[in-house]
Amino acid sequence: MASCSATNVRSSNLTCTEDNLCHSCGGKRIIQASWTAANPGRRFISCPKNECDDFGWFDPPMCNRSTQIIPGLLRKINRLEGNLMACKARERKLWTAVVVSWVLIAIVWCL
Ligand SMILES: [Zn+2]
Repeated sequence: MASCSATNVRSSNLTCTEDNLCHSCGGKRIIQASWTAANPGRRFISCPKNECDDFGWFDPPMCNRSTQIIPGLLRKINRLEGNLMACKARERKLWTAVVVSWVLIAIVWCL
């Protein structure tokens, strides 16, 4: 009898199947990451079809400190990425203004 591979199932509360198939529809289950506040970054294995309720945790439960810190870090990353996008949009506008001003100076210079 073969055991589940490391990429298959590690959690003790998950029923391990040899072929990693959904118990409801028989489709292949996949590993995904939860990004809820209660389980940030914790991986789970489930059927990709929403109508199936075949679900199990892949990672063990996270400690309380992790569940307090990780959502704050995720919000900080999202805020910084938003700031970066705003800065890039501003940079594009400034470069456009520089190019337009150079063209206008060249036109005036040639007159
Ligand atoms: Zn399924």
